[in-house]
Amino acid sequence: MTTRVRYPIVPPGAGDFRGEAGDEPAGRWRARADGERLIPTHCSFCGVQCGMYLRVGDDGKVFGVEPRNHDINKMRLCPKGVVAYQQLSYADRLVTPLMRASRDAPLRPVSWDAALERVISEIQRIQSEHGRDAFGMLGGASLTTEKTYLVGKFARVALRTRHVDYNGRLCMVSAAAANKKAFGLDRAGNPWADLLETNLIMAAGTNIAECFPVMMQYVWGARDRGAKLVVVDPRETPMARTADEHVRLRPGTDTAFYNGLLHVLVREGLIDQRFIDEHTVGWEAVRDTVARYTPERVGGICGLDPRQIERVAVMWGHSPRCWAAHGRGLEQHIQGVDNCLACINVSLATGQIGRVGAGYETLTGQGNGQGGREHGQKSDMLPGGRDLGNPEHRAHICRVWGIAEADLPQKGTSMMEMVHQMARGEIRGLLGMCNNPFVSLPHHAVVRAGYDALELHAQSDIFLSETAQRADVVLPTTAWAEDEGVTANGEGRVVKHNKACDPPGEARPDWWIMCELARRLGTADKFPFTSAREVFDELRVASRGGNADYYGITYEKIEATGGVFWPCPDLDHPGTPRPFEGGRFYGPEGKAVFNAVEWIPPAEPPDDEYPIRLTTGRTVAHFLSGNQTRRLPGLVEQTPRPWVEVHPSLGFANGDPVRVISRRGAVTYPALVTDTIRADTVFVPYHWSGPIAANNLTIDALDPLSRMPEFKVCAVRVERGTEIDPVPAPPVPPGQQPYEPEIRPLAERRSPTMP
Ligand code: SF4
Repeated sequence: MTTRVRYPIVPPGAGDFRGEAGDEPAGRWRARADGERLIPTHCSFCGVQCGMYLRVGDDGKVFGVEPRNHDINKMRLCPKGVVAYQQLSYADRLVTPLMRASRDAPLRPVSWDAALERVISEIQRIQSEHGRDAFGMLGGASLTTEKTYLVGKFARVALRTRHVDYNGRLCMVSAAAANKKAFGLDRAGNPWADLLETNLIMAAGTNIAECFPVMMQYVWGARDRGAKLVVVDPRETPMARTADEHVRLRPGTDTAFYNGLLHVLVREGLIDQRFIDEHTVGWEAVRDTVARYTPERVGGICGLDPRQIERVAVMWGHSPRCWAAHGRGLEQHIQGVDNCLACINVSLATGQIGRVGAGYETLTGQGNGQGGREHGQKSDMLPGGRDLGNPEHRAHICRVWGIAEADLPQKGTSMMEMVHQMARGEIRGLLGMCNNPFVSLPHHAVVRAGYDALELHAQSDIFLSETAQRADVVLPTTAWAEDEGVTANGEGRVVKHNKACDPPGEARPDWWIMCELARRLGTADKFPFTSAREVFDELRVASRGGNADYYGITYEKIEATGGVFWPCPDLDHPGTPRPFEGGRFYGPEGKAVFNAVEWIPPAEPPDDEYPIRLTTGRTVAHFLSGNQTRRLPGLVEQTPRPWVEVHPSLGFANGDPVRVISRRGAVTYPALVTDTIRADTVFVPYHWSGPIAANNLTIDALDPLSRMPEFKVCAVRVERGTEIDPVPAPPVPPGQQPYEPEIRPLAERRSPTMP
């Protein structure tokens, strides 16, 4: 039986107090908009992708923002969304290509022609001397989907290298691999509006209030209707403070916890055997595995009271509709895929998926975290969610691209592995787009060694990031409001970003850069694009028939509806808000697959020398590597620097210098003493660069399937330090001015996590 759609998509702009959709707002008033244009678009930051209007003055410049009554955010924006527009005219935007004469010479402004010719001559030299795979490419999941599609195509058709990957490798790939193994499809099961009908939300390793703030409206809406909340997190985050059950487990023990939940659900007869029989395969192996995960054993592994495991399981088992949502806390482990699979097993065994109020999803961190992993910039993927190793998938894409199958490279390696290959001289040249590995990758000493060994490093960005600062050639690119294109938010809803203003100086879109390079490499016929729309039209055809089928999605359809959920195979297809509705999955015979998983310890368990677990994460004022938010005045003033959260039992006072030491590095942070963290764990936010970067400390051990680094747990010790390490200023292009925010000591501020 199919479930009726309770919350239809609202046409974007309907009910806005300044909307232009022709719809009367309920209050029958509307503000005048003389002397300005309102451009409907979406936020540039996280995977919520809130709708907003950018306010454009007579001079063509964006001078403000207003929320938009879009179906996703319903007039809400978070602290990052309200200031995002300021970066468009910020003083240290990259406005011209930069180049250095040698690896140690300073960067100087050059023409586009000179910059592109240097990149081309080095690509040709490196590939002729060392083979095509000696030049690599790294993309990003904040690029529009059109650009991510071109990253994959440019690497494989113009460079003909197998070495292409992207920074979603640090973010969503464990969930993506688990989704594919379990459901055969890598997408959220429901639109977020369905959350309003749930009876129980289990937030697993996700700090929704700080990382996806506007999504909290759905959580509060469900709570107002009586839904219970379980938060599984070593820290008491703002959301965990409100939970019915806060499961404060040890970092690195998630698989054991979810196996323990399922153990109790089986023992208490709270599984849905009819759903298991009709819609899944592989249950018996999971049932036999979880039989060994008694609450007592799991309590010992996770550092929990076994009675809490019993309580959560019974709460889940007796709730008519349950919703599991997870983030990086579950995923960034050497067991990240297994952690997700253990959580999925709970949802499948109880039939809590594919219905209004019964859902399962990963919360995508980057703005295009979902769309960025669908169309081929990942080392093992082709457009439409296709596999590079599948002969039929390869044949389809080769037909679309007009190339011989023998010319399509095979699967490459992951982002962290590529860095190791750079250090070994196997990859000698690199083109990076929309990523900042000098902040975002773990074990920074290894990252610096890899990039230092390159013979040619070209990097595109809107600012001189820490990674661009090390490049030989820097290519200035457009910000999100200076070009158009689509993204897919955490629900799997494809939305459209619109151009509000021209880029500064000589900045150009990344798709233009790739087309120019392709032309100079002699493959112009494969890259004839003169607009993002033309790229999107080819992407639609390339994705046709794949799991992530965009063929029926057009820019006009998105604008008219507020977003289209893929798969959308035909022009008259409405899209698919609930891909698993009615128990339909994309595995063998249309079924979901159970996967039996055993808990293993983290790569670096605590010992006598390093007895504490370090875990890292985000704070509401900053976004990922901080390349954008560490320059935005309001956000810098709100949260100027990182800190270390320590439990009172460790003996420090607020503001004390605390030296955090791992086997890879040491950083001195100011202490934030709080009982919202476990006594055996410390927390550091990771958005900062240089000597204070949390990723000086983290470990580059990888999940064997997803190749995701284990950011969320490594072993450290903490000591009383002497001087707190200072915050380095963001790099500034030669001849341009930085913004200098007022920075007061952390001790004078309330932490965002303090009650
Ligand atoms: S919740 Fe995410 S998309 Fe919405 S305004 Fe904040 S950062 Fe932007």
